[in-house]
Amino acid sequence: MRATIIHGPGDIRVEDVPEPKIAAPTDAVIRTVATCVCGSDLWSYRGINPVPEPQPIGHEYVGIVEEVGSDVSTVKPGQFVIGSFIASDNTCANCRAGYQTNCRHRDFPNGCQAEYVRIPLADGTLVATPEQPAEALIPDLLALSDVMGTGWYAARAAEARPGATAVVVGDGAVGLSGVIAAKEQGAERIIAMSRHASRQKLALEFGATDIVTERGEEGVARVKELTNGIGADSVLECVGTQESMHQALLSTRPGGNVGFVGMPHDVQIDGQQLFFSHVGLRGGPAPVRAYLPDLVERVLSGRINPGKVFDLTLSLDEAAEGYKAMDERRAIKALLRP
Ligand SMILES: [Zn+2]
Repeated sequence: MRATIIHGPGDIRVEDVPEPKIAAPTDAVIRTVATCVCGSDLWSYRGINPVPEPQPIGHEYVGIVEEVGSDVSTVKPGQFVIGSFIASDNTCANCRAGYQTNCRHRDFPNGCQAEYVRIPLADGTLVATPEQPAEALIPDLLALSDVMGTGWYAARAAEARPGATAVVVGDGAVGLSGVIAAKEQGAERIIAMSRHASRQKLALEFGATDIVTERGEEGVARVKELTNGIGADSVLECVGTQESMHQALLSTRPGGNVGFVGMPHDVQIDGQQLFFSHVGLRGGPAPVRAYLPDLVERVLSGRINPGKVFDLTLSLDEAAEGYKAMDERRAIKALLRP
C-alpha cells in the first residue's frame, strides 16, 4: 500500500509499504477514506521534533472498517468510522473521568497518512456513523478526528459558556475550530486573533464577532479595549509558543480561564504572575473521543461545518506538497485522499 514516511526535516515521501495487519484481538484495520496533515506534524517537518529515522506519519483519519480482531464488538467490517488520534479503551478510570487521551492503556495510531491503518483498542476508540455519510460530509467528519475535538476541549477547558466573552489565540485549523466550539458552547462575543485575510473570513463565518490583528502588548491592549478594560472570560490558546501563551494569560480577566491546546514548545509560566492573576489554566491533548458522538451528530445534522478548514485537497501521493503548503502558510490544512 501507499504510505507517507517522514525521512527528516522537510523530507516527506509517499512509498510502498506492507499493509497493516491485526496484531492484537482488540485491533481494527481500516481502509482510509480521507486523512490530513496536522499542525503538529509540522513540528517534525520543521525539525523542531527530532526524526532519528524514517517513520510513518499522520494521526487523523476516517475510513471503512476492513477487518477487526476477535475481541472487537462495537464496530464491524464495512462501517464508516471516525476515531481519536490517541487510542483509548474508554473504560478505565481516566477514560470514565473524561480524559481518554490519558487512558491507562492508551496507544498511538500512527502512520494514518496511508491507504490502510491499524487502530488499537478499536471498541474504545472508533465511533461508527449510522450509515455511509454523503461525500460532502467527509471533510467535516475528518475534522472531528483531531482539530474540531481539540478546539472543543479548548473551549471547555476555558469554560466558554452562554454570555461569556471568548478570545481565540491562533488562526490555524484548531483555533478556527475553537471559534466554532466557543459559539456552540454559547459564548456571546468571540474575538479571533488573526492577521491573515482568508483565516479572518473563515473565523467570522464560524461565529467570531471581532478580529484582532495586533500581537504582543498591542494585542493585549486591543482585547482589553474590547472587554471594558478587564479581559476575556475564556481564552483558547491554540498555538503553543511562549508568545501565544503570554498573549492568552494577559488577555484573560481575573477569575477567567485559559484552555491551552497548542503543544507547548519552550513555554515558561511565571508562577507568581499566575498566582496574582486569578487565572485558571487547563490544557493537554484533547480527549477527542469523549466528544465524538456529540460532534458527529452536530455534523450530520448540518449544524457545524468544521471541514471548511481544509482549503487544500490533494491525492495521498501529493502529501509532500500538503506539508509544504501548510509550512509556508499557503494552506490552513491539507486533506489527502488515498
Ligand atoms: Zn482508558
